[in-house]
Amino acid sequence: MIQLKNIHKTYYIGQNSLHVLKGVDMHIEKGEMISIMGSSGSGKSTLLNVIGILDNYDDGEFILDGKLIRDLNETQAAKLRNKTLGFVFQSFNLITFKNALENVALPLYYQGVKRKKRNIIAMEYLDKVGLRDWANHLPSELSGGQKQRVAIARALIAKPKVILADEPTGALDSQTSLEVMDMLREVNQTGITVIIVTHEHDISMLTDRIIRIRDGVIGENIIVEKLNQN
Ligand code: ADP
Ligand code: MG
Repeated sequence: MIQLKNIHKTYYIGQNSLHVLKGVDMHIEKGEMISIMGSSGSGKSTLLNVIGILDNYDDGEFILDGKLIRDLNETQAAKLRNKTLGFVFQSFNLITFKNALENVALPLYYQGVKRKKRNIIAMEYLDKVGLRDWANHLPSELSGGQKQRVAIARALIAKPKVILADEPTGALDSQTSLEVMDMLREVNQTGITVIIVTHEHDISMLTDRIIRIRDGVIGENIIVEKLNQN
């Protein structure tokens, strides 16, 4: 599903440059649920932004769902993102003046789906994340966990093949974090590839494979043993 070969990325800030990704190699199969672990500033978000076609890379090769992603213009990138990827962020990124239903429906709005139809579909997705009764509430009226559920429903509504989640539990308490991880696991069980960036060991242990990023390259790959798997 995702193949990175020798990916390099450098940021230039004025006179300074920062070589963040120094030859990243990574292979993620369709249907996997993996975590990318690394300390703060190790380049996790940079890597996820490359995979999410939100940012370019300087050198190497990135293949997403069989297609080489290289030097796309913003229109092409947006089209591929909308077709293939769903995003979940630490800070939820909900639109504050739109209610839960409207936030979930937003990707369909950009696809040109009529309001009545998109609201019906958005309600189905809100229902899937257990928030049917909260459809008319603004983000400010929702708990952190509920906000992240809305964000997950919004990520799912365009039927992505891959969900990219950057520290999705970073702003949540540990109980709520577990609930959000359960939800992402349910998403994964429908066949969607799930990639979670985290610096929390407990969170990474809830995925099937941990990919460590260290000093700009991939360190060890750890297969998580499921003790209670039946
Ligand atoms: P992580 O998500 O693992 O904490 P990041 O990928 O956000 O790490 O950042 C890696 C390094 O690159 C950090 O030193 C950060 O300050 C720097 N960095 C991130 N984004 C930019 C940017 N847009 N411009 C310049 N430097 C950046
Ligand atoms: Mg980050």
